[in-house]
Amino acid sequence: MYIMDYHVHSTNSFDGKSKINDICRRAVQKGIKEICFTEHFSVDPVIPTYGYINLDSYSKEIEENKNLFKDKLVIKKGLEICEPHLNYEKLQEELNNQELDFIIGSVHNINKTKLRKYIQGKNNKDAYRGFFKEVYLLACSSNIDIIGHLDLLKRYAYNDLGNYKFLESADIIEAILKKVIERNIGIEINTSGFRSDVKEMFPSVDVLKMYKSLGGEIITIGSDSHSAELVGEDLNNALDLLKYCGFRYIFKYNRRKPEAIKI
Ligand SMILES: [Zn+2]
Ligand SMILES: [Zn+2]
Repeated sequence: MYIMDYHVHSTNSFDGKSKINDICRRAVQKGIKEICFTEHFSVDPVIPTYGYINLDSYSKEIEENKNLFKDKLVIKKGLEICEPHLNYEKLQEELNNQELDFIIGSVHNINKTKLRKYIQGKNNKDAYRGFFKEVYLLACSSNIDIIGHLDLLKRYAYNDLGNYKFLESADIIEAILKKVIERNIGIEINTSGFRSDVKEMFPSVDVLKMYKSLGGEIITIGSDSHSAELVGEDLNNALDLLKYCGFRYIFKYNRRKPEAIKI
């Protein structure tokens, strides 16, 4: 099996703990064949990640490691952009000359407020519906390849509000997934949810099944690891889950063009 990790953070992300080189070495040890770095990026000064990454040195580090790992590991250069539906023009401008392989679009903040804070004073239904509405806006108008961790809010809300009831947000989730399919973008299975208190992947099985039943095809898998130890973590579980839901392919990207790999 061609194992790929398409959601990885290094020290180019404000919260990343390992260098690209250490992560690549660990990936090879774990039998991973392809890795896509997806460093945090934002053009909004109030978002914590703003101004952290230096895109030139990031590119240089990627190129160096591509040479070092030539025959052992395929390395791709990507970004995970916070709320890419906001500041669309500015993002286009800043990323215009970047040769990126892959872009994840993620909702990490709502109205410039971190999700952990956003849920305060809200009930379960309002919190989750509000979150999914923001993801819908992202799906509608951003220049991305896939939506990151589609039901991420459960990581922050689980202990205080519990998990969401799928049927209470199914209408918005369906709208998100239809938009994803219409726009020829995709979603991911992000295994980091498995390691959080909620102990299930992002997104849940119900979302994956709905995506499949609507005709969704494009999907990537990623660990969302922030340290070398966790690169590739639980990817086999994600593949099992995909097969269980009826998916037959996962996708990799080259200069933002998807390519299907049979699972
Ligand atoms: Zn994220
Ligand atoms: Zn991430």
